[in-house]
Amino acid sequence: MIIYKFGGASVKDADAVRQLSNIVKSTCDKKLVVVVSAMGKITNALERFINLYYNQLPDIETVFNEIRQFHFDIIDSIFNDNKDNLFSIDDFKKSINSDFIKLHNKVNNAPTSDYDFEYDQIICFGEILSTKIVSAYLNFININNKWIDIRNCLKTDNNYREAKVDWDKSSPLVTKSFSFNDSINVYLTQGFIASSVNGYSSSLGREGSDYTASVLAFILNAESISVWKDVPGFLNADPKWFEKTEKLEEISYQEAIELAFYGAKIIHPKTIKPIQNKSIPLYVKSFLNPEDAGTVIRSIKHKLELVPVYIRKQNQVLLSISPLDFSFIIEENISKIFALFARYKVKVNLIQNSAISLSVCISNNTSKFGQLIADLKKYYKVLYNKNVELITIRHYTHKAVNKVITDKKILLEQKSRNTARFVLRASK
Ligand code: ASP
Ligand code: MG
Repeated sequence: MIIYKFGGASVKDADAVRQLSNIVKSTCDKKLVVVVSAMGKITNALERFINLYYNQLPDIETVFNEIRQFHFDIIDSIFNDNKDNLFSIDDFKKSINSDFIKLHNKVNNAPTSDYDFEYDQIICFGEILSTKIVSAYLNFININNKWIDIRNCLKTDNNYREAKVDWDKSSPLVTKSFSFNDSINVYLTQGFIASSVNGYSSSLGREGSDYTASVLAFILNAESISVWKDVPGFLNADPKWFEKTEKLEEISYQEAIELAFYGAKIIHPKTIKPIQNKSIPLYVKSFLNPEDAGTVIRSIKHKLELVPVYIRKQNQVLLSISPLDFSFIIEENISKIFALFARYKVKVNLIQNSAISLSVCISNNTSKFGQLIADLKKYYKVLYNKNVELITIRHYTHKAVNKVITDKKILLEQKSRNTARFVLRASK
């Protein structure tokens, strides 16, 4: 059994859905589990919807209509392909519309005070809609498949928006749902979403569909995972950043974990560990050129000479924290500061400390930044610079470093044997 994961870009419009089905078709003699994300940028649109809902603002109708229209445009385009099919597009549209009615009903009830909970009850619509559409389309073009609502078998704790998988509860349920004993060769399901112990929708963190694929691979003992991307494989830099990039042919699990941890966007950082434990290879493949080899992440015993790999995290904040009472930044202070980061779900991307100050680089995406700073300021002097980016170079060379830092203002620098990291003032 193999697992395919398609991200938002692979279902961003009608042509993409057709290309996805070509890829599935070429493999559907094998046992296959297909994991699909929300279409295009729908998760971002749902985030806007959630914020408007949470703040009870009227613009919500506009965003709702955009989301609805986006899906119906794709439906109208793809289900035109095969007119003599018995499939009733009207019935299908009615069933999709009932999901939109459910989403719209949310608006009529005021939200609870728990933002993260409300977020997860709404964000899941993106994945539910996209997988219903893709599954129906595959059936429509005679790729027989079964749609599974993953929330019935993937169980998590109730740490909404960053929920942790409950492996013990999920394993038997997942095994039962994806049993392959009902003459079904292809299952189609959602990434990113799950359900909590109390039965509500939960989510695994943004871009978490890769992780879902990995969890399913582990539980179902998959032969391999293929993650289909709009790039030819794992590149040594983001092609939107550097004109010339090189594709890595193969990398070890360990290297992939490091690269993902430092912010390489190609794969979600939590993805690697489960498949490493079972030595399941992960292929990063080109969605547009499926025949190409892509990159394989697997267990590698021989030494690999890797080219420098550049990772850029934009929209960062550099915080500098020092105690008001001139105590040292050691155990007690550090644990107090990190407890606050955990409370506000802050992602810490780099840490550096001296005797009386702690510098951390964090992603500028916490909605509670103001509250975090206010809490820190009760005990510490806090300075911050919101306009910075964090660059990491794995396997750095003198030349590679110069390429990145020349003419830049360096605010902080950290080097180990394999990795050089720089916090730079963001370029315009
Ligand atoms: N749709 C979700 C997101 O955009 C999950 C994913 O794409 O992996 O974050
Ligand atoms: Mg996505």
